[in-house]
Amino acid sequence: MEKQKIWLSPPHMGGSELKYIQNAFETNWISQYGSNIDEFEKSLENYLGRNSFVTALSSGTAAIHLALKLLNVEEGDFVICQSFTFVASANPILYLKAVPVFVDSESSTWNICPNALEDAIKYCLQKGKKPKAIITVSLYGMPFMVDEILEISRKYEIPVIEDSAEALGSKYKNEFCGTFGDLSIISFNGNKIITTSGGGILISRNLSDKKRTLFLATQAKDNKEYYSHSELGYNYRMNNISAGIGRGQMEVLENRITKRRENHVFYQQVIDKIENIDLFSEPTNDFYSNYWLNVIMIKKDSAVTKEKIKETFSQQNIETRYLWKPMHLQPLYNDCQFFGNNFCGMVFDNGLCLPSGSDLTDLCKEKIAEILINCED
Ligand SMILES: *Cc1c(COP(=O)(O)O)cnc(C)c1O
Repeated sequence: MEKQKIWLSPPHMGGSELKYIQNAFETNWISQYGSNIDEFEKSLENYLGRNSFVTALSSGTAAIHLALKLLNVEEGDFVICQSFTFVASANPILYLKAVPVFVDSESSTWNICPNALEDAIKYCLQKGKKPKAIITVSLYGMPFMVDEILEISRKYEIPVIEDSAEALGSKYKNEFCGTFGDLSIISFNGNKIITTSGGGILISRNLSDKKRTLFLATQAKDNKEYYSHSELGYNYRMNNISAGIGRGQMEVLENRITKRRENHVFYQQVIDKIENIDLFSEPTNDFYSNYWLNVIMIKKDSAVTKEKIKETFSQQNIETRYLWKPMHLQPLYNDCQFFGNNFCGMVFDNGLCLPSGSDLTDLCKEKIAEILINCED
């Protein structure tokens, strides 16, 4: 019998996506205009609440790029960024020839550390330049230390770009991730909690920022009869087909979050029985994670290794993944400043992401549990 592969975080369609795509075909709105885009944006604005103005874009990376443009980041400017993240958080800094300054994570949420952040800000100020932005991440769906970080942002008057690519549906003190930054972004890439095939949104706090985002995302065309351009623009708008998928996915978002959180409970029950492995979990009740991915940490001096566990899963046709390698350890970002004690490097060395899809069946969970329980032998 052919063994079905268990994926890390596969797309999980809800059923009505095709209806909305069909609607796009019937009305012949196939490109970057149409009701799917409008409705997708509206449903996200309603969902997030709290003064959220949503612009649908072609990717989360594009959203970060435009967020930096909105904050007037230019060549030579400092931009502070959480080191422990996927490379897309940082690359747009280089698109603009600005200078990334990387900051370590703290141990409770694995996100940007308030103390190291202040050290980084002081370094930039000593160099005579206030950083133009702080890019925070909510890694694997876990919200960052929102109160502490926003307090520093206010103290030094440096805006926050909240990279919540992985954290749709996560909350801090009952408010949604994506509502904390001066500008926030969410990704709908194929492996995220819901998907539009590829896509992202930029969330701003006022209508004028939304208008400017739309302007920059559609080639910055001046308000004239002919094609007049005074500024550099981009082709970053989401299309009406992708937005149709997104519309359908929004209808099942609540269910997807529930399923992922159930996966976490399952892993907790298994890991509790294993001496040498910990599970990354919410530090306090202030934090509500969508548990996009479940991450295990192998304890120090343990005989098992992440490579061995990964290999065992792989032999059973089960996908696992190493953690994001921190940016300050990447060849691309070798020359950049880093502040902290390399806590995130230690987490990277000892962690492994396990299958966390919202379509994970009980049978799959049984297989996974068996492998984990036996991994210490
Ligand atoms: C996925 C992801 C992005 C980029 O989103 P895309 O839609 O793939 O461009 C950015 N930051 C983080 C942390 C991500 O996980």
